[in-house]
Amino acid sequence: MSEKLIQVEHLKQYFPAGGFGKNKKYVQAVDDVSFFINKGETLGLVGESGCGKTTTGRTLLRLYEPTSGRIVYDDQVIYDSEKKIAVNMLPYRRKMQIVFQDPYASLDPRMTIGDIVGEAIDIHHLAKDKKDRYDQIITMLERVGLNSEHANRYPHEFSGGQRQRVGIARALAVNPEFIVCDEPVSALDVSIQAQVVNMFEDLQNEFGLTYLFIAHDLSIVKHISNRIGVMYLGKMVELADSYELITHSLHPYTKSLISAIPIADPKTARASKRIPLEGDVPSPLNPPSGCRFRTRCPYATKQCAEEVPQWREIEKGHFAACHNLEKINS
Ligand code: SF4
Repeated sequence: MSEKLIQVEHLKQYFPAGGFGKNKKYVQAVDDVSFFINKGETLGLVGESGCGKTTTGRTLLRLYEPTSGRIVYDDQVIYDSEKKIAVNMLPYRRKMQIVFQDPYASLDPRMTIGDIVGEAIDIHHLAKDKKDRYDQIITMLERVGLNSEHANRYPHEFSGGQRQRVGIARALAVNPEFIVCDEPVSALDVSIQAQVVNMFEDLQNEFGLTYLFIAHDLSIVKHISNRIGVMYLGKMVELADSYELITHSLHPYTKSLISAIPIADPKTARASKRIPLEGDVPSPLNPPSGCRFRTRCPYATKQCAEEVPQWREIEKGHFAACHNLEKINS
């Protein structure tokens, strides 16, 4: 039995964006991304808005059908474009859940909190009878810091942090093994973010959960993640153990993200060198040739415009894609 719960190989997600025949255009939201997630670990996924991290999470759950690639869940191939395998996802929907970024938009305003949490229990026939259903709903609400009085209320009666707790209770109600946490704290006040992140950690310890934790803020991801993957314009550019990535990043894009993390100590902050990112992220409709980061990279060479850098294991468990890693890090 593998220790890996999820394996993603050469995953691509291209969305049609108009045009006909040869001129048909595609948004290359995720392009040839490979990684794995071990059982019980948290893999953080970071990058600027539009880098493809949310699409990666949704595609591996097959909420979006992949364009190509291979996805293995607990040694079972659930998608393989080459072998034309695309299994029925219903049995996996219970095991693989998602918590969405916007807790208000993801909760039906016409349903009570009890029914929102109970809906998943109904779909998967997890309750013996009405009383069992009610008991399961209350247990889940209490697990996330709410109580039985909240069950008959509607989403608009809750704060952002409480609504996110409802979203988490809904995901947990079906007793999942794996949760894609899709920017679950980005829409919350900074004061609430730490509480919710701590709750994710407590629930992971209690239920043995495995997370893909997506966020654009590296300072949040580094607290909760065992390993971190960095995405840029649909490509994974670096992946390593969290501590290794923060202290010994190799890729210029990761280095600039790390240098943007606020440092509490003014002395250390003054001494640390900020590496500013210039220019905007190019369009995924028409990404730069070769390395997609080359239009913003201070180390770009002619080769960077001509060849796509290979995804390589530089040191054990530390992967990166760049032609000039040795020069940049010497
Ligand atoms: Fe910069 Fe070239 Fe490395 Fe891309 S491959 S990150 S452009 S040095």
